[in-house]
Amino acid sequence: MTTNPRKGTDPVPMEESDQLTIRPLGAGQEVGRSCIMLEFKGKKIMLDCGIHPGLSGMDALPFVDLIEADEVDLLLISHFHLDHSGALPWFLTKTSFKGRVFMTHATKAIYRWLVSDYIKVSNISTEQMLYTESDLEGSMDRIETINFHEEKDVRGVRFWAYNAGHVLGAAMFMIEIAGVKESTYGTHIHEKREERESRFTGLVSEIVQRGGRCLIPVFALGRAQELLLILDEYWSLHPELQDIPIYYASSLAKKCMAVYQTYVNAMNDRIRRQIAINNPFVFRHISNLKVCARN
Ligand SMILES: [Zn+2]
Repeated sequence: MTTNPRKGTDPVPMEESDQLTIRPLGAGQEVGRSCIMLEFKGKKIMLDCGIHPGLSGMDALPFVDLIEADEVDLLLISHFHLDHSGALPWFLTKTSFKGRVFMTHATKAIYRWLVSDYIKVSNISTEQMLYTESDLEGSMDRIETINFHEEKDVRGVRFWAYNAGHVLGAAMFMIEIAGVKESTYGTHIHEKREERESRFTGLVSEIVQRGGRCLIPVFALGRAQELLLILDEYWSLHPELQDIPIYYASSLAKKCMAVYQTYVNAMNDRIRRQIAINNPFVFRHISNLKVCARN
């Protein structure tokens, strides 16, 4: 991954070397378990600590055995999706990591619910479980929060977060070590958002107006809230549709909705302008459907 031009000569101490090492411990050739090690001037920073959604137990972890956990100075979590944050309770409670860990307030609030749900739905034996609910709970205090644009300094590593879009609380980090800046990748930018939105609302309204019912399976938290918001807005603009009820059926989404209602200031301008009039996440045309769920 890196070449050492001085190979064969006396090694340069890490603190003086200009070598920047970027080592993916997951998500290199696959989707999931995002975890990247960044090393520069003797500082070690881990970016994200996710699990592989298709694997379970230890197999789902990023390849952290390639590093020394106790040498990691700083761990930054970009957003709450489990492929970016799901291995964190394990990393905090089952390894020798003693560095500091940061995420935004909204990420932390939703991460708590999401990981808790993951523990409940993990269909594996207790011995195979990466961590328990009490591991999760006990490790929450270790996680520090950061506001967008707030600057932090950990052992000479300066960093701050930008709003990355994608999902509520998602951050891109700018990291500065010894005057050298490095920004973490953002998330995919999708083109022609308006077009995709109107294709979605157009299709839904066409189906319900001909008497059909529309079932939309949405697995990614964040995406669900976004689609609900789009539908609620569309219903508001179309009185002819308002007799038609919209339901969402997820107890997890219901819990997280409270967080969405709280952290509107972390959202885009459009949402923030809207909040001055009313909270867009207090839906007018959508209600929660009680389901006989496991929890
Ligand atoms: Zn994501």
